[in-house]
Amino acid sequence: MSAAEAVSVALPVGVNGVESVTMTVIPDGDHVTIVDCGVWRPDLPDGGVGALEAGLEGAGYALRDVSRIVVTHAHIDHYGMAGRLMELTGAPLLMHAHTDLDCEKYRHPDTARARRRDTYADHGVSETERTDLADHLTRWLPYLHSVVEASQRLRGGEVLTIGGEDWDVVHTPGHSLGHVCLWSPTRELLLSGDHLLPGITPPVTFERGFDADPLRSYLDSLRRIADLRPQLVHPGHGRPFGDAVGRIEAILRNKLRRLERVRAAIRERPYTVTELADLLVAKAILAHQRQLAISETLAHIAYLRWSGAVERRTRSDGVYEWYATGDAPLDVKSGLRAAPSAP
Ligand SMILES: [Zn+2]
Repeated sequence: MSAAEAVSVALPVGVNGVESVTMTVIPDGDHVTIVDCGVWRPDLPDGGVGALEAGLEGAGYALRDVSRIVVTHAHIDHYGMAGRLMELTGAPLLMHAHTDLDCEKYRHPDTARARRRDTYADHGVSETERTDLADHLTRWLPYLHSVVEASQRLRGGEVLTIGGEDWDVVHTPGHSLGHVCLWSPTRELLLSGDHLLPGITPPVTFERGFDADPLRSYLDSLRRIADLRPQLVHPGHGRPFGDAVGRIEAILRNKLRRLERVRAAIRERPYTVTELADLLVAKAILAHQRQLAISETLAHIAYLRWSGAVERRTRSDGVYEWYATGDAPLDVKSGLRAAPSAP
């Protein structure tokens, strides 16, 4: 008897330039496991539940059949509907233990915003721009139905049996510290969330209190997935694709090229993160693009710092600037990292 196929459904999002997100429906006998669940829609009478139900129906299931909800990471486009869905189905929510940090942030958005404004101030973002940039979170929050913690806390390494087949939970920190992929060794199929996307290089951003070196975590996680040699990837956004290893190599090249660019600039003269972000992303016009550019630049700086290639000093105006300190190789696997701290 062969188990039924996993079906991926695009749910509409329409926030901050994110068009849609993938929900994957994995049949499990009379029941069904879903992976990622899209956003809560405060503007729709049904809160967006209808689109999700239609997706389930397309796979031959109804809401009452949902017996397990897996969320690849607690970004609101993947997780916003989870609380509502738990109310409607009674199903448990499986997420990585580190998604606690995201839940904490959603419970205390004012603290998160203040922390981000502090970071921006330290790195040279002007006062007028600071509040606008820190408001990124505010724009997403209405699409979060409620803050729900994992009922089953994943660590990576678990095996979920769904429809008589094994799915391995693979912890893939980087895009988000609590990110997991689901891997079917039988089908050589990866549900990649935002770890691996077609067309775009997934953003890897630094945020104080989260991963101290998220870009290194991300590159390590990419290599972990490449070792599995997936034949097919169902990504969190966009269409399924093959040649995962080719895609991973392209993303690795892209990230390492950017690291080299940042390092080359700092070798010429000291830079602030704001200056580097402008250098790297010339067309970051919208607030959320600029916010992303600065947070990504911070991730590059963290990587270079933990590599021993750059160091920080404080200018007379109180802004951090970064100067070159050594010729350490950049493409190295992670060792032990220091506890979360600056940049
Ligand atoms: Zn994400």
